[in-house]
Amino acid sequence: MSKFELNILGCRGSIPTTGVNFSKYGGNTSCISISTSEELIILDAGSGIKNFNGNSINKIHLFFTHYHWDHIQGFLFFKKLFDSNCEIHIYGPNDPKKIFSTITIPELFPISMNQIPASLFFHSIKQDTSLKIGKVVITTKRLNHPSYTIGYSIEYLDKKIAYVTDTEHFNDSLDINVLELSDKADILLYDSMYTNTEYKNKIGWGHSTWEEAIKIANKAAVKHLLFFHHDHEKNDATLDELEIIAQSNFNSCEFAKEGSSFNLL
Ligand SMILES: [Zn+2]
Ligand SMILES: [Zn+2]
Repeated sequence: MSKFELNILGCRGSIPTTGVNFSKYGGNTSCISISTSEELIILDAGSGIKNFNGNSINKIHLFFTHYHWDHIQGFLFFKKLFDSNCEIHIYGPNDPKKIFSTITIPELFPISMNQIPASLFFHSIKQDTSLKIGKVVITTKRLNHPSYTIGYSIEYLDKKIAYVTDTEHFNDSLDINVLELSDKADILLYDSMYTNTEYKNKIGWGHSTWEEAIKIANKAAVKHLLFFHHDHEKNDATLDELEIIAQSNFNSCEFAKEGSSFNLL
């Protein structure tokens, strides 16, 4: 039986949050997994990656959008790093090996890279490329964020998931790269850290709004929109309120919830 499944392992931005007021949407930072019957792909290694459960998996493709802390801080707590039977391919902009070698110096972490039992293979990835992992097609576009940041679309059979986080919109036009990644996506995950009102004081910080997400989703004919990368100060009640307003503006949307999953086939 075919499957194309998205799991939200962490959907918070900037810094993990804890507490009963954050339990519905979750407090772990950015990490999603996408699996087919044959392949396992993980995007970003925020603290949510510690939620990953896959004892029997022995080959993983891990893609990074960029290396801001909230997207890498779970990496060294990824259980599969400590499975000597596991082969992990790590893809990211510029030089991912250099980044992970840097965060494993003794002053920052007790275990060095060469003590990690899994077999790690590093791949530098650029914008405007397409690669195939089995029958999965992954396409990259550059996002508008401080530091070189890549957005991804992941296609399998005739289904598509777009992962567009850590990007700031332009005030005069929709971002063509974001539109291309999102085009007719079955699910779009989009950086919705702020509201339009909050954004006025955060211009240049590299994030977008749920209102912009709806504009993109409408223009790109997205089927289901997941607001992603929630501000660490927005508690469940705030996100619930925003979700009601958003749903009156776009008929199939929700704020991403840690622990939720979607099977597209
Ligand atoms: Zn982030
Ligand atoms: Zn960032």
